Amino acid sequence: KNDMLEQWDRENFFHPSTHLAGFARGEVPQRVVTGGQGCHIEDREGNRLLDAFAGLYCVNVGYGRQDIAEAISEQAKELAYYHSYVGHGTEASITLSKMILDRAPEGMSKVYFGLGGSDANETNVKLIWYYNNILGRPEKKKIISRWRGYHGSGLVTGSLTGLELFHKKFDLPLAQVIHTDAPYYYRRPNLDMSEEAFTAYCASELEALIEREGPDTIAAFIGEPVLGTGGIVPPPAGYWEAIQAVLKKHDILLIADEVVTGFGRLGSMFGSTHYGIEPDIITIAKGLTSAYAPLSGSIVGDKVWKVLEQGTDENGPIGHGWTYSAHPIGAAAGVANLKLIDELNLVQNAGETGAYLNKVMAEAVGGHANVGEVRGEGMLCAVELVKDRDSRTFFDAADKVGPSIAAALLDQGIIARAMPQGDIIGFAPPFCLTRDEADEIACKTAKAIAKVLG
Ligand code: PLP
Repeated sequence: KNDMLEQWDRENFFHPSTHLAGFARGEVPQRVVTGGQGCHIEDREGNRLLDAFAGLYCVNVGYGRQDIAEAISEQAKELAYYHSYVGHGTEASITLSKMILDRAPEGMSKVYFGLGGSDANETNVKLIWYYNNILGRPEKKKIISRWRGYHGSGLVTGSLTGLELFHKKFDLPLAQVIHTDAPYYYRRPNLDMSEEAFTAYCASELEALIEREGPDTIAAFIGEPVLGTGGIVPPPAGYWEAIQAVLKKHDILLIADEVVTGFGRLGSMFGSTHYGIEPDIITIAKGLTSAYAPLSGSIVGDKVWKVLEQGTDENGPIGHGWTYSAHPIGAAAGVANLKLIDELNLVQNAGETGAYLNKVMAEAVGGHANVGEVRGEGMLCAVELVKDRDSRTFFDAADKVGPSIAAALLDQGIIARAMPQGDIIGFAPPFCLTRDEADEIACKTAKAIAKVLG
């Protein structure tokens, strides 16, 4: 055991999404993670923790999968790297592109590979701008995103992200990005509104925004099938149908950001098919390799692809690429991961055990006076905490209870996530979760809430 690690960490490591001053003062607990098996991770203090957030909702097949580790190792020994520019590929990347399209919803044409979800969404925006330039309508450039959407942390993608923390002090959002309301029924503007009326409200707000800005200035709409980081919020009934009708009317493309939902988290291979979404581009990352290696992709639909392809006859090669696009090691991990998902029936398990987790969670905590709502879809579950349930009064930012409840869960060996905005505990376990593990998460959540709130 290297006794210097904690000190080196403090002295050298710039941790993302971290309160830097708090870390320097020792207020942010350090954890050196050393191993993982199934739904559990281990740290070097010997703790074994049930990871009910699958890392950052990405280790979908669970930890310790030797099949994927071996595929990575074989690939590294045979050919660790070659690029994918100007017609180059590897067996792994070409095979993976076929496996993705075999699983993708109807109407998808090609996969552009990247490294992570943020760069894939960056690619999407650039491809859509390129597309509209080829079509001779350079003014059609704005992208509409939703408040509470999460689409990454770059300049464009941090702008698309509709969470204040990701804008604050960065001069974001950029002018080309505008936001519309989140389809968050629990936070509907007026408690008497039915779900159907709320869906109609979201669609009319979107349409009003489009009309205010001018439809000719709007290129695309981006959304996660289920809002993830913004609070794990499944859409109200009929939402996607209503939104797509508005987008079609104004010739606005649709990007489905399936970084969290892609490859099974909702109990369907894609969130798009789950909700009847017909996207023009789909963003994939996390579940593509279950995070065994970094890899992302933009699945480009026929309509956009045909224009891009034709455009190169006039403009030459498309000037967008990353050194590590289609990295062979990521691609090998992706091939092994998608095979494993099929072999172990993990999409079905995500749907079934996820529904069980949501049910036992609602039973365990739904009656507590400070639980406003237990909601979820597939292997996603959220507990929203409120000061007063009947009047739907929220805790102030200063007396948020989510972080203390997550800490009380951690004391019992469960990793959950206090979501960054609002007062919400999120769960997104690996798809191999068992019913016993689901029971354990629900029971310990009830204990954690009782400890913090009585
Ligand atoms: N899109 C969604 C829906 C995400 O949840 C995330 C990350 O959590 C991203 C994009 C960004 O992915 P990455 O962190 O790999 O850049």
